Amino acid sequence: MRVLQVASEAAPFAKTGGLADVVGALPGALSRLGCHVTVVIPAHREAFSSRRLPIESTGWEFDVAVGTRKQKAKIFQSHLPGRDGSPDVTVYLVGNDAYFDRPTLYGGAEDYPDNSERFIFFSRAVLELANRFEEPCDIIHSHDWQTGLVPAYQKVLASQWPRLARARTLHTIHNMAYQGVFWHWDMLLTGIDWRYFNWQQMEYFGQLNLLKTGVVFADTVSTVSPTYAREIQSAPGGCSLEGVLSARGDSLAGIVNGIDTEAWNPGNDPHLPRPYGEADVVEGKYAAKAALASRLGHVAPDPRPLIAFVGRLAEQKGIGLVFDLLERLAGSGRARFLVLGTGDPRAEDGLRRLAASYPGTIDLVIGFDEGLAHLVQGAADMLVIPSLYEPCGLTQLYALRYGTIPIVRATGGLVDTVVDATPEALADGTASGFRFSAVDGGAFAHAVERALELHADTDRWQSLVRRVMQEDWSWDSSARKYLRLYQHALASPPTPVRVP
Ligand code: ADP
Repeated sequence: MRVLQVASEAAPFAKTGGLADVVGALPGALSRLGCHVTVVIPAHREAFSSRRLPIESTGWEFDVAVGTRKQKAKIFQSHLPGRDGSPDVTVYLVGNDAYFDRPTLYGGAEDYPDNSERFIFFSRAVLELANRFEEPCDIIHSHDWQTGLVPAYQKVLASQWPRLARARTLHTIHNMAYQGVFWHWDMLLTGIDWRYFNWQQMEYFGQLNLLKTGVVFADTVSTVSPTYAREIQSAPGGCSLEGVLSARGDSLAGIVNGIDTEAWNPGNDPHLPRPYGEADVVEGKYAAKAALASRLGHVAPDPRPLIAFVGRLAEQKGIGLVFDLLERLAGSGRARFLVLGTGDPRAEDGLRRLAASYPGTIDLVIGFDEGLAHLVQGAADMLVIPSLYEPCGLTQLYALRYGTIPIVRATGGLVDTVVDATPEALADGTASGFRFSAVDGGAFAHAVERALELHADTDRWQSLVRRVMQEDWSWDSSARKYLRLYQHALASPPTPVRVP
């Protein structure tokens, strides 16, 4: 089966969050299952400046229609390495300097004003490119709002790309809160007829909605956990698209993300001072704490349990609850805290003030630092993820692998991946972390207190740590679920396009 993965980011080329991790790892897992996978992403400046994998020019150039203009697409090529480091999955990068040679992927505090045009160009370029492949693809798997037009183009402008006409499309939603909503005149840039600009297809409160477009036109739709798949079919999880999503309920699958077990492996992580596994997790974590302490300029590692937060400083991530927790517990002297994140400037300032009030107890690193994220997972005893909503979440899965106990709010994928350490779950060996439900600082602090209590019982804590490290969150089982979804889509007729 030939599968095309289309997204706006893929690790290690360009990354702002979990989407990149998924698009960087799922292709390899699918290829191990026998699929022939090709990835297409934009040629962001970051992909060249990170220089993690060699990128070459293919010499292919073609014009892409964006409204009445033609824009040049220049195609680059690279590979995602296979398990033994050999080239495995081909990655094409769609270049256009005016659109993608920029310092960040989507903008800074404000999005780039031409984001719709950038991703209209990219989506259309993907079809132009795939139509030139020697072998046509069977499945076109697009992700998030940036590529929501891909399934629409494949159906509505099918005559332009005849070699793709028989493919089936799958659109995966990684976060309903980012829908790519733009003013209605951007319809002109898409080249799609205005008759599709209606409340059941591309229109959304008078504007153009690219995520909705993907959901409506794709043959199959999925999201990144079964709980989130249920949550988004009603308010508030559906972010006003709950009607559209429940209408697609029969073909809306929820598949939990896996993790890249090569990139996130405490037994072989270049960002850790020494490798560790279940047998020597105590020593491994101690070494990581020492390395972290020296990196942060401390004289010695703190003997108190280390509670960390790693993530975007955004409302979604429960940053308000993090403030609340720090205010409640930082003065207690019972734990040390570390926050690694970047995002909302007000949250950054607030955290700076809070950290300054508790020197020696709260460490704050503002910025996006992949290596440090690995070291923190190695060093921390607990990772807090108090998200208001969480489609899947990856950091709790990395935490489990590194023997770091997650403390999570019971929402979305966090429900599907973390089992609360109730006395029963601890006794039957299913516990993997601590959960709380209410969006409330008291409930969060109570979950952390429960974790600290168990931590004080070294034997029981260590047995929990060793057990969670054995859990298998690799892509293998999730990739098999995607493969079944592809097979089902190929065996079913395409979703018809009806203009109401
Ligand atoms: P989301 O995609 O909503 O941001 P996920 O938990 O799915 O959340 O994925 C977040 C990814 O980004 C993880 O790989 C996490 O380690 C990484 N990450 C988030 N913030 C930072 C940061 N400040 N520095 C380094 N890595 C980060």
